[in-house]
Amino acid sequence: QPATTADGVPLELLANINNLPDARSAVAMGASGVGLYRTEYLYLTHPDVPDEEEQLEVYCSIVDACPGHRMTLRTLDIGGDKTVPYLGHDHQEANPFMGWRSIRLSFEHPALFLKQVRAALRAAAHAADQGGQVRLMFPMITTLEEMRKVRNMVNRACRQLTAEKKPFRRTPLGMMLEVPAAAVSIDTMLEEVDFVSVGSNDLVQYLMAADRDNPKVSHLCQPLSPPVLRTLANVIRVCNEADVPITLCGEMAGQTRAFVLLLGMGLRSFSMSPAFVPSIKELAAKVSQSHAEWILNRALKLKTTAHVNRFMSEQVKKLAPRLS
Ligand code: PEP
Ligand code: MG
Repeated sequence: QPATTADGVPLELLANINNLPDARSAVAMGASGVGLYRTEYLYLTHPDVPDEEEQLEVYCSIVDACPGHRMTLRTLDIGGDKTVPYLGHDHQEANPFMGWRSIRLSFEHPALFLKQVRAALRAAAHAADQGGQVRLMFPMITTLEEMRKVRNMVNRACRQLTAEKKPFRRTPLGMMLEVPAAAVSIDTMLEEVDFVSVGSNDLVQYLMAADRDNPKVSHLCQPLSPPVLRTLANVIRVCNEADVPITLCGEMAGQTRAFVLLLGMGLRSFSMSPAFVPSIKELAAKVSQSHAEWILNRALKLKTTAHVNRFMSEQVKKLAPRLS
């Protein structure tokens, strides 16, 4: 069944995947494509940087597992909690999550970055042959200059592939919105992006200054906290007004209470673990857009996370008792 709200608003429910078996389960669970392919698992399981042909093969196998669908590939997001010795992670950083990770690391390894972009652009040609689409997105973008640098690198990869007469296709280029600085400047960031994907797992931890993996501060690292909701509502409004497609691919997309609020904010594209797709589809069919907006407006007036959580538990229970 296609995903729609109770009043027929079409929604896109995508899957977050790490590998080929996940891609197969995304299709089996009824996702309409891949909203986040975390490519770092390929790097973590290798003794050295995987070569371009091998990456191409893996990316094409993911495309083949969801033919005709959209596949959003995220470039290497390593550093923080995931490190590999061959990329120079042999020294200890005092603040790894705020240090040398994600796109920052890719910029310092241009040969590695180009190799990955080239493999992705070549896989995009393979997807297009099957009526599908590859989109490319970049983790932890903080400034406009970074996004410009990304575009330059992608252009360079396109020039190389043209000269080598290798089939490729230009893809939409997106930023992952995970850093508060980028959320504050979202209107200017949109100049350089074709789409936005909110990485709420990181955005919440950076906004609340509370490590997402530290149980001692988990009471602060909460997606339904009022400052997080205000930030998300603003980002989604700015993107919708500018007609720039926006998806949210953090864990909260698959959580029933958060889903209703995001729908109320005007979000239409959600990416989640494949296992959550059926229940979110079921919940979407029970709530109209105007009702989700009414719930959101009530929630935005609440001043504490505990109040929002309680209120949203009641609302989900009324909408879909089986899912609450
Ligand atoms: C996120 O930060 O929300 C996200 C989807 O990326 P990851 O969980 O891989 O950091
Ligand atoms: Mg992230």
